[in-house]
Amino acid sequence: MAAFEDSAFDDHERVVFCHDTQTGLTAIIAIHSTVLGPAAGGTRLWAYESDDAALHDVLRLSNAMSYKNAMAGLKFGGGKAVILKTPDFDGSEALYEKYGEFVDQLNGDYVTAEDVGMSVEIMETIARKTRYVSGLSRKEGQAGGDPSPKTSYGIFKGIEAAVAFQLDRDSVADLTVAIQGVGNVGYHLCRFLSEAGANLLVADIDQARVKRACDEFGATAVEQDEIVSCQSDILAPCALGATINARSVPELKATIVAGGANNQLETKEDGQRLSDAGILYAPDYVINGGGIINVASEYYGDADDDEVMRRVADIGPRLTGIFETARHSGKPTNVVADEMSRKLIESAAQ
Ligand code: NAD
Repeated sequence: MAAFEDSAFDDHERVVFCHDTQTGLTAIIAIHSTVLGPAAGGTRLWAYESDDAALHDVLRLSNAMSYKNAMAGLKFGGGKAVILKTPDFDGSEALYEKYGEFVDQLNGDYVTAEDVGMSVEIMETIARKTRYVSGLSRKEGQAGGDPSPKTSYGIFKGIEAAVAFQLDRDSVADLTVAIQGVGNVGYHLCRFLSEAGANLLVADIDQARVKRACDEFGATAVEQDEIVSCQSDILAPCALGATINARSVPELKATIVAGGANNQLETKEDGQRLSDAGILYAPDYVINGGGIINVASEYYGDADDDEVMRRVADIGPRLTGIFETARHSGKPTNVVADEMSRKLIESAAQ
């Protein structure tokens, strides 16, 4: 494993490899930047093909969190963690408590929350050992709880902004949205979209989740390998990363890509590919910032739920600003967003 040589290393401040034989915990915590505040980002539980793949994933995700938190105007730097589903992994409370101890040893330089494979209950277990954790059960009148409904609300507002910009329409009613992955984020996104009158096409590797979306929201199931290229107005990647790449872009029928997954572009050049194809891309870490806005409000205790919803709704106009800058400058939206967030971090560092 060569952390410093990894293409996603990008001047990370610290990378911590955590291992505990007794509980079978294997985790990596990546702290990209603490310039704007404690490095904050969720913990992902995943079965990686190799340790290198886990390291690369956590570095990419952590890097994106610096940008995401800066763009959302939060007093948070960027970090992320992965717990590896190795053969020793048993999901026990002891394992998550041990993980909480590792987080605690960083003395608040890293604040964790939910990502793929996590839940409020697991965060509560981690919180037995550290106070540097958010996404806990909601207390009366305060922000908190599972961040994914807020993430989905932000994506919904972002899709509305993209539709207004690209299609000159003021609603998603009667438009068709293809949603790849109907887990926590995709499920709640289906709810917002169906309430607004959109037609839904859904795919997931978990057929029970597909059925839930079809039963509850009248969605239509699509084969996993067809969801990206199916006939739709909007593609919303809400599974894992790298959906958009040199192979998939020529296949897309949608003219908007706007979804919740982190790292939707396999490479930065894929943003240019989308732009060249006339497809509007809502940069992932801007449109999916609702969850971390909720996490920050909970962590700093400075907002109730209504205020969080207002802060999350700002994602719409923020994206419109990026779309307009991209149009005027001729740069792809992902490049515009990267430049804006780097500027925010650099000016705070001075
Ligand atoms: P989740 O695990 O609840 O849902 C992901 C779903 O995608 C699962 O149902 C899984 O079966 C499915 N999936 C995986 N690979 C697939 C494939 N190839 N095709 C179709 N379906 C596939 O996770 P989540 O919390 O909903 O997060 C989804 C994405 O959004 C992730 O990329 C995550 O990093 C990102 N995200 C989540 C949040 C949040 O608040 N939960 C916030 C910001 C970003």
